[in-house]
Amino acid sequence: MKFGTKAVHAGVEPDPATGAIMTPIYQTSTYVQESPGKHKGYEYSRTHNPTRTALQNALAALENGKHGICYASGLAATDAVLKLYRPGDEIIATNDIYGGTYRIMKKVFEPFGLIFRFVDMSETANITDAFSDKTKMIWIETPTNPLLKILDIGKITSLCKENNIHSVVDNTFASPYLQNPLDIGADIVMHSVTKYLGGHSDTVMGALITNNDELARQLAFIQNASGAVPGPQDCFLVLRGLKTLHIRMQRHCENAMQVARYLENHPKVGKVYYPGLPSNPGHELASRQMKDFGGMLSFELNGDIYEEAVKTMEQLKVFSLGESLGGVESLCTHPASMTHASIPKEERLKAGLKDTLIRLSIGIEDVADLIADLEQAIGD
Ligand SMILES: *Cc1c(COP(=O)(O)O)cnc(C)c1O
Repeated sequence: MKFGTKAVHAGVEPDPATGAIMTPIYQTSTYVQESPGKHKGYEYSRTHNPTRTALQNALAALENGKHGICYASGLAATDAVLKLYRPGDEIIATNDIYGGTYRIMKKVFEPFGLIFRFVDMSETANITDAFSDKTKMIWIETPTNPLLKILDIGKITSLCKENNIHSVVDNTFASPYLQNPLDIGADIVMHSVTKYLGGHSDTVMGALITNNDELARQLAFIQNASGAVPGPQDCFLVLRGLKTLHIRMQRHCENAMQVARYLENHPKVGKVYYPGLPSNPGHELASRQMKDFGGMLSFELNGDIYEEAVKTMEQLKVFSLGESLGGVESLCTHPASMTHASIPKEERLKAGLKDTLIRLSIGIEDVADLIADLEQAIGD
């Protein structure tokens, strides 16, 4: 089945009790058993819930995976992955990374004895230099947040296979519409479902997808044992959101391309970070690895004056100023004070993230209105 058909149909069967075409919100904590241990596959909603099962199957199908496992947030999904490892194990992660991922690694799991090395993965040598015989996993995020660097998933996952270690890809920025890391060797795909998959800025959720039966067993065990599960109402909202994922993504990409071209030609704009621009260092790789270039872009104004960047962000009217991304409405974020504030300033600068960087999540509005809004906010 092709992607759009899967987005509409995958995981969802008419409800066995009534034939309802949409999976109902099974708002229940427990399930009545006929006699002790004799039940219909559902015992307690932390362990299984039919609305969640439908969503997990849908997400697995969209990533061409066998198993989908949902968590209460993207970071709860990351938490579950990190619990696969033990004190002394080493993990190599990309240095241009979602701030919360950096925080859970450094502030939550490092004190428990996991060791993290953050490297610029655009050079394979940086990864191999960080390897040791204790390395157990490589954490990849591409396109990276907020600089939209493109990492070569296939190259890094083959390096992992040669060394018999896991590879995990945070596929939040791309969504399964643009790339499917399991197809090119990743062991686990992670999503902040909060973003493009939900798509309507009304739910916080995370997911892991894998083809590996043993990893799926361990991750489902952690899902139940640690208990960070999403509620059925949220699962229903995401099931609804998924049905338009492919057409939303098409529009996000079209709009972002036009906004990127507009910004690149604006005399007051300095650098524009968007892999769809031929001038972007990741353009060639992104053209091979992704179906299109996504809805996220970042830029800096000429001169890098902090007050000017702040003024521009304050003056935007169609774009709302706030954290998050991937909703139908356009958002503007200041990574240094919002999404990436948990990364120390010197680490941010090392990764190339200036305090004047403005990040845009391009929505599905009419692009002329988005460009007009940027025009009045940037000024002349
Ligand atoms: C938002 C985000 C996360 C964290 O997900 P939550 O749902 O907010 O917990 C992880 N990675 C990326 C790339 C994100 O954008």
